Amino acid sequence: MNGTIDTSTLSQLDRSHHLHPFTDLGRYSKDGGRIVSKAEHIYIFDSDGNKILDGMSGLWCCNLGYSQQSIVEAVYNQLQELPYYNNFFNCSNQPSLEMAKALVDVTPDQFTHVFFTNSGSEANDTNIRLVHRYFDLLDKPQKKIIISRKNAYHGSTIAAASLGGMNYMHKQFTGLSYVHHIGEPNWFSDGGDLDKAEFGLKVARELAAKIDQLGEDKVAAFIAEPVQGAGGVIIPPDTYWPEIQRICDERDILLIADEVICGFGRTGEWFGSESYNIKPDLMTFAKAVTNGYMPLGGVMVSNKIADVLMADSDEFAHGLTYSGHPASCAAGLATLEILTGSTIIEQAKTTIGPHFQARLAALSDHPIVGEVRGRGMFAALELVKDKSSRERLAPDAAGAVFCRDTAVASGLMIRATGDAMISAPPMVCSVEEIDILATKLEAALDKTAQHYGIA
Ligand SMILES: *Cc1c(COP(=O)(O)O)cnc(C)c1O
Repeated sequence: MNGTIDTSTLSQLDRSHHLHPFTDLGRYSKDGGRIVSKAEHIYIFDSDGNKILDGMSGLWCCNLGYSQQSIVEAVYNQLQELPYYNNFFNCSNQPSLEMAKALVDVTPDQFTHVFFTNSGSEANDTNIRLVHRYFDLLDKPQKKIIISRKNAYHGSTIAAASLGGMNYMHKQFTGLSYVHHIGEPNWFSDGGDLDKAEFGLKVARELAAKIDQLGEDKVAAFIAEPVQGAGGVIIPPDTYWPEIQRICDERDILLIADEVICGFGRTGEWFGSESYNIKPDLMTFAKAVTNGYMPLGGVMVSNKIADVLMADSDEFAHGLTYSGHPASCAAGLATLEILTGSTIIEQAKTTIGPHFQARLAALSDHPIVGEVRGRGMFAALELVKDKSSRERLAPDAAGAVFCRDTAVASGLMIRATGDAMISAPPMVCSVEEIDILATKLEAALDKTAQHYGIA
């Protein structure tokens, strides 16, 4: 353990002074939580010495695990050389310009420029600033509306949470009036009797209907994750994305791909946009870009938009003190070096990814599993009481919470999202480690079925 403070003292300090993100604060102040004190490869260790296989890569960010020494050294060396300088007012620094070039090299061809932020949320705020500025400069100032989707996750600042479609978040703040939502391509929950292909077209066409209702002259952009991550690893039907692309192209609507989870290999390609063959105008990244070791996010900007912005003689009045922070960019460069110099992304498509998907797909025979879906290195299992009616296992998603707690107690960190179990393990897992994950998950499903009296 790296600390000298015992668990009960740590827990007391935590409960007394620390307001936790996305946490039931009342309960936490009474019961506390787990204090993670070190990590190695794909394992985290808590302050009581429990070793837990991290089936979530932190928060979908430590895709290369916790022992990437070259990233640590790159940050350390950068802090020695130039710990900080900003990119405002005609200044720059070498790591940020090298990182910009490295990102342009690994992202699809249309992306020529990068705007750096510290997080995915700020990057999505930046998307709105870029889109509004772009249409202002094109003399279409009435184009301000952004269309997003129900159950999307785009971050937690006011603008990013407005773009998001999580009801439980919207209940707690007032969203931006120029953000509108359409349905999500969630066949398991919304597909009813339609087959997946029909359903994909039907939800995609909600975009056309919404644009026509609001007026093409008022709608600026559509934002979506290629695969919704936090919403429950919602794999869209194959018909969905081609139709969305067609609708955006036909109507002069910018397409923003939020690649914060999909990006850097999670789908088995470098970017989810490549997996689904779409051509976004803007692309949000964060999380895995530094393997989670340093805060860094940003927006990839296509030449179509960059050309307009750079023809402007006014200042682009947006930026963050740490936009292009040298140490974060050094971490990003080291991360991209690992990805470009290895077969890790290819393995997510051809070996480890298919093994992970096959092991989880085998669980679809389990009595409480209604659907297994996934792609590359992430997947979801829907828990049900009745497979054919898709009736949920328990009210208020309690079944998934029970299953998660059981898995964590057995040494597997996994997430419960609604009624689904979610896993996005580090892409550096071995075949044997995927087997351990699947075995622990199956044991947790067995105990959950037992708990709810389902044989
Ligand atoms: C996590 C996430 C964000 C927000 O990123 P932060 O760094 O937490 O602000 C945005 N979009 C998606 C798809 C995400 O998963």
